[in-house]
Amino acid sequence: MRSAIINLGQIITGDWRNPHASGDTIVMADGLVQSIGTASADDLRNCDVVIDAGGAVAIPGLIDSHVHITFGDYTPRQKTVGFLESYLHGGTTTCITASEVHVPGRPKDPEGVKALAVAASRCFAEFRPGGMRVHAGSIILEPGLVKQDFTDLADKGVWLAKAGFGAFASPFEYEPMIGWAKQAGMITTMHTGGSSIPGSSGIWADHLLATRPDVSFHVNGGPVAMPDRDFARVVHDSDMALQGCTAGNLRTLLLVSNLVVKAGQFDRFLIATDTPTGSGIMPLGMFYTITHLASLSDLPVEWAIAAATGNNAAVYRLNSGVLAPGRDADVVVIDACDGGATDNALDALRNGDVPAVGAVVTAGVPRFVGRSRNTPAAIRKVRVAECRIPQDFTASAH
Ligand SMILES: [Zn+2]
Repeated sequence: MRSAIINLGQIITGDWRNPHASGDTIVMADGLVQSIGTASADDLRNCDVVIDAGGAVAIPGLIDSHVHITFGDYTPRQKTVGFLESYLHGGTTTCITASEVHVPGRPKDPEGVKALAVAASRCFAEFRPGGMRVHAGSIILEPGLVKQDFTDLADKGVWLAKAGFGAFASPFEYEPMIGWAKQAGMITTMHTGGSSIPGSSGIWADHLLATRPDVSFHVNGGPVAMPDRDFARVVHDSDMALQGCTAGNLRTLLLVSNLVVKAGQFDRFLIATDTPTGSGIMPLGMFYTITHLASLSDLPVEWAIAAATGNNAAVYRLNSGVLAPGRDADVVVIDACDGGATDNALDALRNGDVPAVGAVVTAGVPRFVGRSRNTPAAIRKVRVAECRIPQDFTASAH
């Protein structure tokens, strides 16, 4: 499919070093961004669908790097079907699993956790709920796994490993397994903060610095934060990515964001939701965290958007998350909500408001155009201007 979004008021790239793209048009073909800036009448005539953004703002589709995926579009924790499709209506176009720890009766033996990771990875290889790309299958590190297991898993396509829920006496015992997973080319992640499962121990700076995962999962607590003094140590004494989550401690989210900015280390700062959990299902969670950072701290709103898009893409080696030619054509059109105090999406986010989502495109295919089921209406009218194929993109996904 070939599609275009025209009449954009601003284009935010998702790259915090170069956050604005000039022009008002994005042309997409075969799942990728083809060009950004302007398009000729011929370019647009060759498109199957043209979306008129009416002056609203384009950002890359949000990447939530901490989602409690299980199987299908279902969360056992909150007993809800369709949550991923609902997240797409909140602007999230990519979800990365936080490991399949919420699968009821999930296995804890080496063969079981390996099979679970492979099965989850395969089940989401082509399944796109509402158009969302889901990266599932994170091996839950448990005692008994050996080095060869990680090579075997990597050969089967598993590229994520999760420390924090295993039956170890101490979090320090994860150290060799995290090393094996890294050697197999995996991205390693570690629960941070107070224990989220009764009986499991808290994971603080000492553990992170000794085991060196690639990503400190919910560095601001999931949901309970480690002591304040530990944040500076993790920022200054390691190079791991630091994931701030919606379902965590807001005060320490702002603390760690300020620390990474002052340290000149903003590439390491990621936004995710850590949902569905006991904190609930949060389709607008990514936007809440973006607006918390943009309204309660000095962080530029474009940087907060980058932490939710391009920074996640870089750490997780994804081709989405940045609006540039050759990148995945995952685009979200946002605006200020009708009836609010501001008249554009970026000012709304700076004001502490969630934006209106006016359209979501993934892999170059519009998933809905007009009104998200989860946000108030936009001020500007985002609409299908031209459609040359027999499909109604104004309807909600499915
Ligand atoms: Zn989690």
